This record gives sequence, C-alpha cells and structure tokens, in this order.
Amino acid sequence: MTVRMFVCPACKEKRGIDISYGMPGSDLIEQVERGDAVLGGCMQEIGAPDRQCLACGHQWEIARRGAPQQA
Ligand SMILES: [Zn+2]
Repeated sequence: MTVRMFVCPACKEKRGIDISYGMPGSDLIEQVERGDAVLGGCMQEIGAPDRQCLACGHQWEIARRGAPQQA
C-alpha cells in the first residue's frame, strides 16, 4: 500500500500524512506501527486537523468536511 505524503506548510518537508479518525482496521494499525499513519481518535471534531507532519509534528486542516454549504 502506497502512503501519500503531503508538503507540510510549517517546515516544507514532504512528510505530511493523513490523520485517520474512527475505529482503525488491521491495515491501518499496521501503518500506524510503521509510522505511516496517525490516529486522531474515534471522532473527528469540527476543526480537527486532517494531516500531521512526521518531520516536525505540525498538524493542519486541509478541508472543511461536513461544513454547512450555504447556497
Ligand atoms: Zn513539518
């Protein structure tokens, strides 16, 4: 399984990975043990970060999932 890496806005290293919320499956647990994934907890609160940088530990939000779309 390929792990996507994203550029960290804080240190500019391409070491940002998705933070996984909810109950992790066995695949995800293996990724966490390898340091390829980060668990954010069972519930993602509004405004919770989506990604974490493995280089500096910075966390940031990429999208406002679930935000109300006002027409
Ligand atoms: Zn960073």
